[in-house]
Amino acid sequence: MREIDTLLAEHGEANVALVVSMSGGKDSCAMLAYLHDRYPQVETHVVHADTGFEHIKPISAEAFARQVTESLGYTLAVVRNPNKTYLEMVERRGMFPAMSMRQCTSDLKRGPIEVYLRNHCQAKVIVNCIGIRADESTARSKQTPWKLNTKLSKAGRLVYDAMPIFTMTTEQVYADLATRSIPLHPVYRRAGGYLDRLSCRVCIFFSPSDLAATQVHDNEAFELIAALEDRLGHTMSPHGSVRALAARALPVLD
Ligand code: SF4
Repeated sequence: MREIDTLLAEHGEANVALVVSMSGGKDSCAMLAYLHDRYPQVETHVVHADTGFEHIKPISAEAFARQVTESLGYTLAVVRNPNKTYLEMVERRGMFPAMSMRQCTSDLKRGPIEVYLRNHCQAKVIVNCIGIRADESTARSKQTPWKLNTKLSKAGRLVYDAMPIFTMTTEQVYADLATRSIPLHPVYRRAGGYLDRLSCRVCIFFSPSDLAATQVHDNEAFELIAALEDRLGHTMSPHGSVRALAARALPVLD
């Protein structure tokens, strides 16, 4: 990434560290492989944020993330919000996170990674890398792939937020992983699973067909959300309950 190259030239390798968000999803894996190829000498922290509602079968998101991370020669740090899991957060608030606000991401992923960065990175310049790509959605295409993080920067420490694979297309990501022999988590449709993303087991961004597929393939998680909706009198989607949305989706072929 041009901006990282510039930072390294300006500050020297010894003063720069990368903090890489690693969910175990295809984009995180492709990003880590890219950074590994490009910046093998730079101090790199690979961090997995566990929301408490990550996939657990047939291999947990954490174990899978560790497997890929270690195959590239790094160790995986795992962080969590010490006060709540995803389901506890929803239960206590009495409502699900809105897609526009995404309290789940800020409290359960971004926040714990920021705590890690503050506590474990001593470098003068830190690049906080996330695997967001423009190709994922219109909203994501409008994001800025490189910016100074004014919240985390302070005297003696500059922190930048970076999206190193922002311009890669979905097909390029799949092709890149295949070329490198990096596997996909088995939950991916292309790996024989039933989803196109490795998200929480039931994510606020799920389509009705994702919900229908989850009802079949991860009924425990589906029922946890359905029961939570019943208890709270609040649905995860503004368009209806997960049961109603799944029923409306096309039949899922097993
Ligand atoms: S995967 Fe979905 S539900 Fe989980 S934290 Fe991210 S946006 Fe929220």
